[in-house]
Order: sequence, then C-alpha cells, then structure tokens
Amino acid sequence: MRKSPKEHISEAEWEVMRVVWANQPVDSKTIITILDEKLTWKPSTVKTLLKRLVDKQFLMTEKNGRGYLYHANYLEKNIIDDNIEELLSRVCDKDEAYLVQSMIKHAKLSKLDLRFLIDQLKKDIDEAPEEITCQCLPGQCTCRHH
Ligand SMILES: [Zn+2]
Repeated sequence: MRKSPKEHISEAEWEVMRVVWANQPVDSKTIITILDEKLTWKPSTVKTLLKRLVDKQFLMTEKNGRGYLYHANYLEKNIIDDNIEELLSRVCDKDEAYLVQSMIKHAKLSKLDLRFLIDQLKKDIDEAPEEITCQCLPGQCTCRHH
C-alpha cells in the first residue's frame, strides 16, 4: 500500500471510497446498495465514480466472475492526513492555530478525546516556539500590514 496519492478525491468519490474502506474487497453491486440508503444516484453514476477512482489509482480491481472486486490503494488515514497538510499549507503559518481551533470547535469530541488532546498539548508546549512568524509571499498575506 503506497503512502500518498497525487490526485484529489471529489466529494462524490469520497462517498464511494468510504464504502470501499469499510467493506473491501467489495463489488459494485454492494457499493450501489449501500449508497442507495443515503444518495439518489443511479447505478451508472456509482460505476462512473468507480472507474474514475481506478483511473486515478485510488482503487484497484480484482476479477470476480463477470465483474470486479474493489480494493483501496491507500489507507483512509493517509488521505485525511494529506488533506489536512494541504489545508494547512493554504494559510499563513500564523493562521494555522485558527484552523486547529476551528476544527476542535466543530468536531464531535468525547471527554476521553478531550483528555487525550489536553495531554498531547501539555507535552507539545515545551517544544513550541514563543511565536510563529509569517513565511508568506509579500502581498499574499495581511501580516506585514500590522
Ligand atoms: Zn503570512
């Protein structure tokens, strides 16, 4: 299993990937049945998405009678990590804290999750710099105006 894909996954493709991750190896009929609960896609839509995901190498196929079984080429966690790194790379280094705060605010977190976060943050505080500096291209950020 490779670590990181070059292509992006669209919102629709993500719906399909989640079914594959949860059920692999899985055939298209099962994927269509599962997604039918949530979305009003035609079977041909799911098949188009599957073909696209194979073309982009997110999925691999295995012959299964007259059809195929689908496997994911990447772990869900790796794709999530890539998306988060990409999101962080889009903002000023000084705004990354806002992104994290916003994520914590919007995430559903249990007491256990929060205790884990607090412990992790207590460990991280000793290593953290006093201040984050802006590394942006002049003109791409408002930091230098202040
Ligand atoms: Zn900046």
